[in-house]
Amino acid sequence: MIGSDAVTGDGGWLGGPAGSGSAGGGGLSAGRDNESQQLWEAADERYRAVLDSLAEIVFELDANLRFRFLSAAWERVMGVPAHVALGHRADELGIPAAHAAIAEELGRLVDGEADQASFELPAVIGGESGWLDMRVTAQRDPDGRFTGASGVMTDVSDRRRTEERLARLALHDPLTGLPNRSLLCDRVAQAMARSRRSQEIVAVLFIDLDHFKVLNDSLGHDAGDEVLAAVAARLAGSVRSTETVARVGGDEFVVVAEGLAEAEEALSIAARVHELLLEPVHVAGIEHLVAASIGVVTVAPGELRSANDLLAEADLAMYRAKERGRGRVEVFQEELRARAADRMSTEAALRRAIDGGELEVFYQPVIALGTGAVQGAEALVRWRHPERGLIPPALFVPTAEETGLIAPMTAFVLSRALRDFAGLEGLSVAVNISARQLIDLRFPDDVAAMIAASGIDASRVTLEITETAVLADPEASLVVLHRLRDQGLTLALDDFGTGYSALAHLQQLPVGCVKIDRSFVDGITASATDRALVQAVAGLASALNLRLVAEGVESEAQAAVLRTMDCPSAQGFLYAKPLPFDEFLAFVEAHEARRAA
Ligand code: C2E
Ligand code: MG
Ligand code: MG
Repeated sequence: MIGSDAVTGDGGWLGGPAGSGSAGGGGLSAGRDNESQQLWEAADERYRAVLDSLAEIVFELDANLRFRFLSAAWERVMGVPAHVALGHRADELGIPAAHAAIAEELGRLVDGEADQASFELPAVIGGESGWLDMRVTAQRDPDGRFTGASGVMTDVSDRRRTEERLARLALHDPLTGLPNRSLLCDRVAQAMARSRRSQEIVAVLFIDLDHFKVLNDSLGHDAGDEVLAAVAARLAGSVRSTETVARVGGDEFVVVAEGLAEAEEALSIAARVHELLLEPVHVAGIEHLVAASIGVVTVAPGELRSANDLLAEADLAMYRAKERGRGRVEVFQEELRARAADRMSTEAALRRAIDGGELEVFYQPVIALGTGAVQGAEALVRWRHPERGLIPPALFVPTAEETGLIAPMTAFVLSRALRDFAGLEGLSVAVNISARQLIDLRFPDDVAAMIAASGIDASRVTLEITETAVLADPEASLVVLHRLRDQGLTLALDDFGTGYSALAHLQQLPVGCVKIDRSFVDGITASATDRALVQAVAGLASALNLRLVAEGVESEAQAAVLRTMDCPSAQGFLYAKPLPFDEFLAFVEAHEARRAA
């Protein structure tokens, strides 16, 4: 077979440029006449053309492992002419890392340990670092001595790069490019190992963006992703060489810092993170203020802790920061573990309560101070716990707000109240709503649907909000409040006088009613200051054409003072406590009967 002769032959076209082979191949050409010599050379060129058309680099090595043939693919793939490599060994390709692999793999062919080898080696391909796959077969003389080798090389750089990218993806978060949880755990373990030697402190900071879920739900996931990517870039841009920043969950980031001399240094890192977030993030043409709650845990040098334990503790501390009003830092303490267990059982119980019908709605009458007529009621939620009895909202509304259960809870109270009052012409009903609803852009539509389903006229519906809730995110809240008001219902500012108590808010917010907090009504008969404040609010409300309700009226004396101030409405134990619906109906009937008498 000519081909195999040619490949294994001593010389021929494998020795170099076509034709030059005859010089070293005297034995082969000597026995040929001119015609066969011509045929041979023609075949030589044809086979060469075939080899040159292959995408793989076909090569031959001499007994000293020097290239003595390279097909045209060499130049196409490597970007350098073949004659530059001919006469050189493969390990002279210019990549030190390739030397060992080549020496080892080809060495086994030379030593007779193997007849074939197949391996990948780093190479400079077209001026860039890449990878070649080399498959090579030994050639031996009849005594088994190594005379050379032949084989093919393929450019596998693209495949290697894809593999490397996939390996990277397994350890990095695709959205932000930051290390993911598994790489982070690795880094934490390494940091702790180093801290044992250096006697320095390691700190883990768990960072959770405040109200991110609401932003994501209302603006859409793309905008949410943009915010996350922007925050990630800021964090990544600010870390020092002794710190790692990772993304471990939706809106959760972790910074691991090592080499701290004192645990307090962790707090300055937390302060730095807060400062980074002060600058608003621009997404979808809107400025977003992104705040974060941060939990911190530090490890003394030599302390043996698992990365997962540390993350869990930092997470608990972060949760504490959320509970204490967000936008702040808390350091992990043992007691947090017990509290977490507590909260989880409350959450689970509350979820069962909502699904299992343990929530009830009570109604406290609102009375017209001038005529004494019942104007309507405020709906107040109660939890009838199978063992603990009736639980007031102060003990479970905060948990509902923290866990997101506030949404189904509000939906329950609202739809029940609207249905109860739909048939009570002439009476209005007020329902309390939380900060969460104020930044949920779908909430107004939900309310509209509930109003429509109940058949109540929107003008008889009031939603109570607090200034504190509005101030958590004024921009989003204003959008929601305007959409609610445009449906024809009334918005009331609850607990007025507490919290920020800015009179200016009365003008800026689309509210139609103000409720003066019980604490001022309480002092109205004894304190001149409280009296002055209530008087001022009453004057302003009347000037701005707002309805006014005094909360927590417990005595006839308080009611009398309020009447002198032209306060139109009142609510309090003087008239009635919050009552179950049937008792409320009975109260209205008895109250109106008494007035008529
Ligand atoms: P709020 O909206 O200011 O409701 C008035 C609270 O004052 C009620 O407490 C009511 O029972 C109490 N109160 C009324 N008159 C008097 C009085 O003369 N003296 C005294 N000492 N207290 C009086 P409650 O029902 O325990 O509700 C507490 C808070 O829980 C409410 O304050 C409201 O902020 C929240 N809440 C109640 N129900 C809901 C609800 O369905 N959703 C939401 N998000 N919050 C609710
Ligand atoms: Mg209220
Ligand atoms: Mg109130």
